[in-house]
Amino acid sequence: MSALYMKVAEVLSTSPKGKEICVKGWVRTRRGNKNVAFIALNDGSTFYSLQLVAELSGFDEEIIRRVTTGSCISATGVVVESLGSGQTVEIQMQTLEILGDSDPESYPLQKKGHSLEFLREIAHLRFRTNTFGAVFRIRHAMSFGIHKFFNDRGFFHIHSPIITGSDAEGAGAMFRVSTIDPANPPKDEAGKIDYSEDFFGQATNLTVSGQLEAELAAMALGQVYTFGPTFRAENSNTTRHLAEFWMIEPEVAFNEIKENMDLAEDMLRYLVRYALDNCKDDLEFLNGQYDKELLERLQFVVENDFERLTYTEAVEILKKSGAKFEYPVDWGTDLQSEHERYLVEKHFKKPVILTDYPKDIKAFYMKMNEDGKTVRAMDVLFPGIGEIIGGSQREENYDKLRARMQEMHIPEEELYWYLDTRKFGTCPHAGFGLGFERLMLFVTGMSNIRDVIPFPRTPQNAAF
Ligand code: ATP
Ligand code: MN
Repeated sequence: MSALYMKVAEVLSTSPKGKEICVKGWVRTRRGNKNVAFIALNDGSTFYSLQLVAELSGFDEEIIRRVTTGSCISATGVVVESLGSGQTVEIQMQTLEILGDSDPESYPLQKKGHSLEFLREIAHLRFRTNTFGAVFRIRHAMSFGIHKFFNDRGFFHIHSPIITGSDAEGAGAMFRVSTIDPANPPKDEAGKIDYSEDFFGQATNLTVSGQLEAELAAMALGQVYTFGPTFRAENSNTTRHLAEFWMIEPEVAFNEIKENMDLAEDMLRYLVRYALDNCKDDLEFLNGQYDKELLERLQFVVENDFERLTYTEAVEILKKSGAKFEYPVDWGTDLQSEHERYLVEKHFKKPVILTDYPKDIKAFYMKMNEDGKTVRAMDVLFPGIGEIIGGSQREENYDKLRARMQEMHIPEEELYWYLDTRKFGTCPHAGFGLGFERLMLFVTGMSNIRDVIPFPRTPQNAAF
């Protein structure tokens, strides 16, 4: 009888008692006495480790000694009912092969209970902890859930470019992409770097957003979304900002601001429910380990409507609140995260969607309201996070959009392709950007954005 290779997740969910199987994975712990060894084996397929029981009389002493925390093994044995608590089945081990030793003297994860800060310094190994196994399985589920949400609603996934020739979008400072030799750059007559000699024959950057391209596609395919990496060269050293992060940007023809809010709310609620339905073990662990109110908070979002109000109403609430803020609030200034969190956590105690922001603090492409002072912007604010989504109804009128670009000194020739959509068959449309790692912060209850992306890029840090 040859042993069937199975993942631990499958063994635990199907309990194939009496079967001889093969499992492979990394050793979390080895305990035991002089007669028997208990090995906790984790292969990443589930939060749980599988217990392997080895009667020492049947094995070489030397091979058992090499079963150390962090080592990789392949084992065969019979699935039997587990007498210990917690698990339904365990493996009565028959053969054991060491695939990779792990020197207990130098393996950094020998002990449990390392700080998240320490684990960030060994990001190449932190996947092997309970915490990061849970976080990255949830990250996968959220990514899959996003595609499923849109696919089920007839949206098309558009791959917007990562290298862009326009730097006019204004969402943030950009990283230059260039093959010019920085020590000896070609110069023009004025002594400035001559980018016509660069790889693309012009200056290029990493994108800050896929929105403008998504708009082009929406004006033909109707409902589209992008889901890709975006880059911001801002020196924001906070627990909510990365220099490289992933963004989901739906764009929908014929949607106005109301439908845009409905879509954002439906999507967030769908994703949180998707996590509750599909990541139970991992969420329960995170709830116990880091944040005792996590599951309650997720359930609350699934069950309750978001509060919707205008920026102007929000400013009034903040001014009347009597709360002490580091930054003063006044109509016309951008809300700081302390203000956003006051509204969500103290005042409404639920997610909030703010609309109709002053035009001067928002991007050029947002649709102007009748009042001439505010635009049809919408930000979705979440507990513990602040802004999780930023979006708007777009200005679809060619003349108004051009006038706004001139006012904001945005070079028309660079964005002629964007203006063309308003020239040829324009229509009302709307969309938004959801920061994937901000969603991950909310769903996992982790408090630092560096802990929800495998390899965080932040100021002064791009190590592996
Ligand atoms: P913030 O004010 O929080 O810096 P923003 O207004 O600059 O964000 P947008 O340009 O509206 O952000 O981007 C849309 C979404 O992308 C935000 O709502 C947020 O979820 C996410 N996001 C923006 N900047 C970052 C960043 N540096 N790191 C991670 N996520 C980000
Ligand atoms: Mn924003």
